[in-house]
Amino acid sequence: MIMERCVICKGKIIEGAELRDGVELKGWKCTKCGETYIPSGEVLRWEILTGRRKGYVRKIRTVGNSKVVTLPERLIAEAKIHINDLVLFEKMKDGILLRIIHPHISKRS
Ligand SMILES: [Zn+2]
Repeated sequence: MIMERCVICKGKIIEGAELRDGVELKGWKCTKCGETYIPSGEVLRWEILTGRRKGYVRKIRTVGNSKVVTLPERLIAEAKIHINDLVLFEKMKDGILLRIIHPHISKRS
């Protein structure tokens, strides 16, 4: 997102930061009317750091030489994830998709 002019007053936009609930969000600010523009990635970071996505956020940990992340209980129930299911990691534009493969069901079909 690169903006040159404010959508409200057509004023000049410069890079700026905004402090929201103790989290510094990087974005753009209008030099004329003061309107701020915060990209969605920064808003998501703010939601996570202020606990607004609590049930679905995990921290990467180290176990031996591996980086490990646990699955939220709610997600396990919703996606019907079982022990020995396989996880296919697919790189997406905005992140990584975890595709759950149930081997026991695939074999029957
Ligand atoms: Zn403006």
